[in-house]
Amino acid sequence: MCGIVGYTGKREAYPVVLKGLKRLEYRGYDSSGIALVNASLKVYKKKGKVSELEESVIGKDTHAHTAIGHTRWATHGEPSDRNAHPHRSSGGKLAMIHNGIIENYASIKQELLKKDYEFKSDTDTEVLLNFIEDIKLHDHCSTEQALRIALKRVVGAYCILLVDEDDPETIIAARKGSPLVIGIGKGEHFLASDASPIIEYTKEVVYVNDYEIAIVKPDELVLKNLGNEKQTPFIQKLDMELAAIEKGGYEHFMLKEIYDQPDSIFDCLRGRLHANAGTITMSGVENHLPALINAHRMVMVACGTSWHAGLIAEYLFEDLCRIPVEVEYASEFRYRNPVINKGDVIIAISQSGETADTLVALENAKEKGAFIFGVVNAVGSSIARLSDAGAYTHSGPEIGVASTKAFTGQLVVLAMMAFKIGYAKGSIDNKRYMHLLTELNSIPDKVAQILKESAAAVQSVANKYKDARDFLYLGRGYNFPVALEGALKLKEISYIHAEGYPAAEMKHGPIALVDENLPVVFVATKDKYYEKIVSNIQEIKARKGKVIAVVTEGDTIISEMADDVIYVPDADEALAPLLSVIPLQLLSYYIGIAKDLDVDKPRNLAKSVTVE
Ligand code: GLU
Repeated sequence: MCGIVGYTGKREAYPVVLKGLKRLEYRGYDSSGIALVNASLKVYKKKGKVSELEESVIGKDTHAHTAIGHTRWATHGEPSDRNAHPHRSSGGKLAMIHNGIIENYASIKQELLKKDYEFKSDTDTEVLLNFIEDIKLHDHCSTEQALRIALKRVVGAYCILLVDEDDPETIIAARKGSPLVIGIGKGEHFLASDASPIIEYTKEVVYVNDYEIAIVKPDELVLKNLGNEKQTPFIQKLDMELAAIEKGGYEHFMLKEIYDQPDSIFDCLRGRLHANAGTITMSGVENHLPALINAHRMVMVACGTSWHAGLIAEYLFEDLCRIPVEVEYASEFRYRNPVINKGDVIIAISQSGETADTLVALENAKEKGAFIFGVVNAVGSSIARLSDAGAYTHSGPEIGVASTKAFTGQLVVLAMMAFKIGYAKGSIDNKRYMHLLTELNSIPDKVAQILKESAAAVQSVANKYKDARDFLYLGRGYNFPVALEGALKLKEISYIHAEGYPAAEMKHGPIALVDENLPVVFVATKDKYYEKIVSNIQEIKARKGKVIAVVTEGDTIISEMADDVIYVPDADEALAPLLSVIPLQLLSYYIGIAKDLDVDKPRNLAKSVTVE
């Protein structure tokens, strides 16, 4: 959530930071701004997209070799020019950008108001900045020291970058709970919320840890903890290519990422699934097999789309491993004082690996002795580092705010885990295990087939129903969470109200919504519930609802009843979601396009939710 970029070195800093902000715009985009430090400090900021900032800066002095920039996702104060970051301290010498929330900002603000500080914005960020300035003036200490003192008082989450007019080559950074990566160049350093603004300049990076402060100059990077003790930076090599974060000829990131899925699923399977040999290689599982096989229960902890992946995992692990599973919203789980015992396995699912609620939920569970397994896309992210073991989804960078390929990556990882654990435990026999491996191996080709053969049909359905006010999505068994995910995608991208429901549960409420104007999407691939879902379709038809059905190719029964049909290839029911979700992703995309909406950056939403 929110994008942070910084540069100090020999280049002109403005274009580097501006380009970085554009790469990070998916993280937050209600306003943006840049502070440039040269002989003096200049701050330019603007409500709206980064391109609007760029336009407003044309003709102004942008010369500087040190700069920090921010795209905001407002938490405190409406999106506006004055609430945009960077903020400038009352004395005018310091400028700061911030990702996160300072929870105790109100009490600090009270103290500062008593000292006659005036505030130009409504943000928690400006409060922290003036607090730092106040400590600096009062204690006659350096900016770095003042920051350290201030952070000891702060409750909340932050990644901040701070510049001081009197020290124009230095950026001071600090993090707790919000991500920060530093790229190491020759005589220059790059700072950002994730690696995407950095990879075109250098592949050597340092992931800053919580409670660390980085003092960054062109030729020097010093890391310290809040106790002022030096820390040794751990330099890692990025294995990401620039092309992976560009649109590659597609009109939108979301469409590119939907079409990436045959490859991203293949990448997730690569080196792990050996279908002919009947093996799955996952060191995170192998090294902890006893803990996983003997788990008393598993708790899936996640938010949003990842939570839906957790629901599908519930079906997988209960069905194939005979392990009781609970699926928890991280935001509820963290505050509920849940019962966690030794022998419980927490599976954390997060694309970014930075989701604030999930992160804190895990910290709590870890303290209580649970074993944490992370299913994460972003390599080196906070959740990946906190987990006792894990498996990356290898989906590649996901830029579109609505998750698509990260979701299918999560499903593939969770399926491989369930197959491996179930087989090792003896709860599935060799025949079923071998069948599941063969089926999983065929998924990338089947996804490619859907994208090739069904996209046009989905687009015409989208055009037909784009003006509907509500949608209902129904499914049973493994396809029930797919219905939830389809409804979520539609809400996110098209702003149409949509509800996902178990198809049988529909009778207990949502059926009251059904009339001739209500499109109902049935996820009705061939499985053991098929006959039952046929009855549910009849119930909708009897009330004149419009039925859009996602069915298995060769289906003749539902295709006769439905108003519109979208076919997907046959698959074992445990893997059906990997196929049935693809048309639903496309449907939301095409409806969003038909309504002329910004599908990559839907309003109010941001990628990587690093605030609670
Ligand atoms: N809490 C800060 C604000 O509302 C930072 C928000 C962000 O992470 O973009 O300005």
